[in-house]
Amino acid sequence: MPLRLGTQVITLKTRHPFVIARGGSSDYRVVWVRLADADGVEGWGEADPSAYYGETADTVLAALGKLEPHLPADPFDLEQAEARFAQLAPNSAAARAALSAALHDLVGKRLGQPLWRLWGLDPARAPRSSFTIALDTPERMREKVIEASSYPILKIKLGTDRDEEILKAIRDATDKPIRVDANAGWTRERAFRMLPVLRDFGVEFVEQPLPPRDLEGIAALRRQGVLPVIVDESCVVATDVPRVAGAADGINIKLAKCGSLREALRMVAAARAQGMLVMVGCMIESSLGITAAAHFTPLLDAADLDGAALTVNDPFRGATIEGGQICLPTEPGLGVRRR
Ligand code: MG
Repeated sequence: MPLRLGTQVITLKTRHPFVIARGGSSDYRVVWVRLADADGVEGWGEADPSAYYGETADTVLAALGKLEPHLPADPFDLEQAEARFAQLAPNSAAARAALSAALHDLVGKRLGQPLWRLWGLDPARAPRSSFTIALDTPERMREKVIEASSYPILKIKLGTDRDEEILKAIRDATDKPIRVDANAGWTRERAFRMLPVLRDFGVEFVEQPLPPRDLEGIAALRRQGVLPVIVDESCVVATDVPRVAGAADGINIKLAKCGSLREALRMVAAARAQGMLVMVGCMIESSLGITAAAHFTPLLDAADLDGAALTVNDPFRGATIEGGQICLPTEPGLGVRRR
């Protein structure tokens, strides 16, 4: 009997409007995906569409409708199922990532083992997650730093014309490690000016300083040797890794970009083969989406999995990041339940 697909749109609300260099919002529509087998065992996944990559909850639902007739008869047929989805819906990474997570959840439940265990990983090796301070006035960003007191590492969104002022306000409020994400918001000239400023404020690394295609500019920034440069928007899938390898020190993997758990693992392998750092990021997601990514964090150097922590109406309970420490569930599959 084929797997049965169920979908439900959930509107996540963030505590504060989540604003980055490209804009932002307080409401995020995500899609809860359920795959039920003949025994009534359900695998769950979440699609967290990003307008930047051309997806919305509506395009996700359309893509899922298109992929439904191509669900595998056997959920263990993961490799071929994902390859088929990628061929049929190449521009629907968030939708495909939800199906991938649901299939992996189902497989783990059928085997009675959590996903990290099927992958042979040690959950104690998960790096601590940063907590993101989105763009706002310097005063409000300072208040958010105080609200984030339980998180040991902060990620600051920049890419504005008042970045120095923002960094100063945040440094006045905390001496925690900080990382910076410009979300492609700087010009080359501005990025070169910002590098020593970031160093002086003790920033650990900078993410996506320049537009995704400007790998020459990114490479030139990296050659300054001031601080590590990580690419996010420049590196979507595993085949992008060799292209960015000479330009950046590391990559940021997101399931909503790469489209599947297996592709995420391929990205880790491809980046390691180039001697690169690897981190994982997220969209605004519930704990269901976050947990799928959290399962491979023991393979990584850094994590930014605060998507659910930024929301006020998370319907799920799964991996937690109490005090920055990523704690993986021990239940089979993804190990996610309804709250
Ligand atoms: Mg980023």
